[in-house]
Amino acid sequence: MKFEDLNLIAPILRTLKNKGYTAPTPIQQKAIPVILQGKDLLGCAQTGTGKTAAFAIPILQILHEKQTLGNWPPGIKTLVITPTRELAIQIDESFGAYGEGSRLRHTVVFGGVKQHAQVRKIRAGVDILVATPGRLLDLMNQGIVDLRHLKFFVLDEADRMLDMGFIHDIKKIVAKLPPRRQSLFFSATMPPDITTLANSLLTNPVRVEVSPVSSAAETVEQKMYHVAKANKKSLLTHMLKNENIPSALVFTRTKYGADKVARFIKNAGIHAEAIHGNKSQNARQMALKNFKNKSTKVLVATDIAARGIDIDELSHVINFEIPNEPEAYVHRIGRTGRAEKTGIALSFCDQDEKKHVKNIHKLLKKEIPVERRHPFSISPFDAVEKKKSGNQDRARRPQKKQIWHRRKG
Ligand code: AMP
Repeated sequence: MKFEDLNLIAPILRTLKNKGYTAPTPIQQKAIPVILQGKDLLGCAQTGTGKTAAFAIPILQILHEKQTLGNWPPGIKTLVITPTRELAIQIDESFGAYGEGSRLRHTVVFGGVKQHAQVRKIRAGVDILVATPGRLLDLMNQGIVDLRHLKFFVLDEADRMLDMGFIHDIKKIVAKLPPRRQSLFFSATMPPDITTLANSLLTNPVRVEVSPVSSAAETVEQKMYHVAKANKKSLLTHMLKNENIPSALVFTRTKYGADKVARFIKNAGIHAEAIHGNKSQNARQMALKNFKNKSTKVLVATDIAARGIDIDELSHVINFEIPNEPEAYVHRIGRTGRAEKTGIALSFCDQDEKKHVKNIHKLLKKEIPVERRHPFSISPFDAVEKKKSGNQDRARRPQKKQIWHRRKG
C-alpha cells in the first residue's frame, strides 16, 4: 500500500515524501482511514510502529480542511494526552513536522517547569494541544485551557498512564470534555483495566491492532548475558569498548542506578549521560539532544524516562538490569529496531533476575539466546551464583574468576 491510497491531501503527501517515508506502516494503513471516516479508534500498538503519524496525519488533514472551509471556531480542537514530558515534546514536534506549511497552531504543556511560557502560547491561540495529565489539569482548573470546541481527543500510551498513577487525573480531564468528539485511544497492552477505561471513553470504536506485545520487536536481535551482579559494570564497559556499538541506550531499574552506571562509563572514558525523572527538564532535553546528534554514545535511562523516546538509528539497547515487568522488557527493546530498522538488544542477567527472565520468556513465547562468549561469563549459571558472597568476592578478582571459568569449561 502507498500513502497515495489513503486519501491524503497533497501537502501531507509532499511532507511525507520529503521525510523519506516510502510507505505507510501497518498501524497507519489501518488507522488513517478509520480516523478520516470520523470513527472512534482503539489502537493496540507500541511505540516504534509509527503510531504518532497514524493519528497526527488524519487529524491534521481534517483540521486543515475545516480551516480552509472557514468552519473554524476559536480555541483548542485537538487534545493529546501522553504520560511523559519527552513523549509530549516528540508528539508536538511530529504535529509540527507532518503539518508543515499548514496554518494550524500547536503547542505542548508538561509539568516540572514554570507555566508562564506555556500559558503565553495557549493565550496566543492554539489548535492542537499536547499535554501530560498533571499540568493539563492544573491549567484547566485555572481556566487557562478551554476545551469547549474540542473535536479530537487522543489518549496515548494508556497502559503506561495507568502504571504511572494518572488514572484519576485522566478521569477528571475526560469529565470536562465535550461529549460530541472523536476519541482515539492507544495502548501497547490491553489488560482488563485498560479495556474498562477505553470503554468509558470511546463510542463504537474500531479496534486496530498491530504487532501485539508478545510478538513485538521481531526485527530486534536479542542476547542474554549471564553475569554476576558485581561484574555487570565491567561487562558493560568491555562491550562498549570492544564490540561494534555505535550508540546504546542502557536501562537501569532506578534513578540512582542510572547515575551510578553513567558515572562508571564516563570514568572508563566513554561519553555517557543519564536521563531520569530527578533531572531538570532542561538537563533531560540536553542529554537527549546530545544522544540524538551522536555527541553522546551512551544514554543511561530508567523505564519511565525512556518510554517513547524516539531515536532514529539507535543500534543497541542494553538492559543493565532486567525489568521485573515483562512488558517493560518489550518496551525497552522496542527503542531499537524501530520502523523496520534492525537493532540489537543485550540483557545482563544475574542470579536474582532469573525469575524476571522466565516471565519475559513466557510473554515472548520463546527464549532469548544466551551469549556465553564474554570474559565475565558464569556458566553453569546456578553453580556459580549459589554462594553469593563467595561469588562477589571472586568478581573482584577477575584473574581468579577466569581460572575458574577455564577449569569448568
Ligand atoms: P512512533 O511509533 O510514532 O514513535 O514512530 C516511530 C518512528 O518511525 C519515528 O522515528 C517515525 O518518524 C518513523 N516513522 C513513522 N511512520 C513512518 C513511515 N511510514 N515510514 C518510515 N518511518 C516512519
